[in-house]
Amino acid sequence: MIAHKTLKPNNNYDIVFNNNRKTPMLVSIIRIGLLMMTTYCFSGTARGQSNHSNPWAVTDVGVLPPIASITGGVWLKGELHVHSRHSKESSNNPISKILAFSKAVGMDYICITDHDNHVNGDVANNTWADPEFKSDSILLLYGAEWTTTRGHGNVFSARPYDHQRLYDVRDQRDVVIGAVKKQLGVHLSANHPSGKDHFGYSYDMVNSIEVWNSAVWSKNANAIMIWDDMLSSGRKLTGRGGSDAHHGVPDKPEQATTNSYQAKANYVGTPTTWVFATARTSQAVVDALTNGRVSVSANPYAPRVEFYADLDQDGKMDMMMGDNARPTGKPVKFRVQLTGQTVSGATYTVNVVKNGDKFGTFQATGKLPTVEFTDTPATSGRTYYRVVVEGPPTAYPQVPQSMALSGNMVGLSNPICFNFDPNF
Ligand SMILES: [Zn+2]
Ligand SMILES: [Zn+2]
Repeated sequence: MIAHKTLKPNNNYDIVFNNNRKTPMLVSIIRIGLLMMTTYCFSGTARGQSNHSNPWAVTDVGVLPPIASITGGVWLKGELHVHSRHSKESSNNPISKILAFSKAVGMDYICITDHDNHVNGDVANNTWADPEFKSDSILLLYGAEWTTTRGHGNVFSARPYDHQRLYDVRDQRDVVIGAVKKQLGVHLSANHPSGKDHFGYSYDMVNSIEVWNSAVWSKNANAIMIWDDMLSSGRKLTGRGGSDAHHGVPDKPEQATTNSYQAKANYVGTPTTWVFATARTSQAVVDALTNGRVSVSANPYAPRVEFYADLDQDGKMDMMMGDNARPTGKPVKFRVQLTGQTVSGATYTVNVVKNGDKFGTFQATGKLPTVEFTDTPATSGRTYYRVVVEGPPTAYPQVPQSMALSGNMVGLSNPICFNFDPNF
């Protein structure tokens, strides 16, 4: 049992990554060796009787950090995955065009995520150094699409960082990559995690996952499945969207390419990621993304999904999606609200997912469609709830063919969590 106790770290990466490269590898090897020894030793008793106690079992998470204000902030909408002319396969998509479009449809923030392998990792002297990389109204995040043999990930940062280091380390072991990512202090996100270019790294390195890639909602089913698996195993990863658009509308007909049709079907805002930020700053956007106060809508004009809970039964909502609390053993009242422009006379269907399984389906109508339901999260072990909203599509005249591709998918929330270990 003593061996077990010493084996249980609060956070693997903290221990491994704070050292230099040689020591952590050694620590890992010793730890894995001990783990194999104890597994072998205990396999005999596990077969016959039940005096086995799992040292990794979910235990009391103790006192959790207080929940931040659910009113002291601002909802900001943005795009987290778009390629400019600095990605080789893009067409008619200079940064100026992306930003002018984003401004016209009311975006608050954007991250231009060009393929880093197209510039051998030197994003700083390409995308970020482009004279067009500036805006007087839109918060511009620094980032890139980390484009590697084992998959793609987007980096989000409020300030410039040394992307070259992340590019150089891409084929190394995950413990090495994770250490570099941690040193850079950036938010890393798994892109289109399933299928071609699936994300073949440890999800323990990432802060979020692209659960809604492009206007074609139907192709995201496996990404949602991976997300639920990560959440169910205690990994509180944020789900986010990204259009992954590469092609803009040509200025002149003769500039059209074979892919130019895409600009009217999938472009900035299909889908749109909403964040509840404490302030209108790039850092607050990245922090909200990391914390999970995030929902995703089909386009910038579609209603925003807000998901709240009243934990202490005082009739006032006191937590929202992305938040994590200790259950009290008493019923919790949940509220789903669609804010913004709703389709006149529409009925919206709210599907609630609890711990990866279907919990219930509710209907909502009216100017501010709202659904309330009650459930009692278990006092031991983790519980999470998230919602998916379906209904008639909201028109997006600037990208007119996108509505048919997203179909009746309106938006999704991040989870409201109970008993998730913040030190995991
Ligand atoms: Zn990609
Ligand atoms: Zn991409």
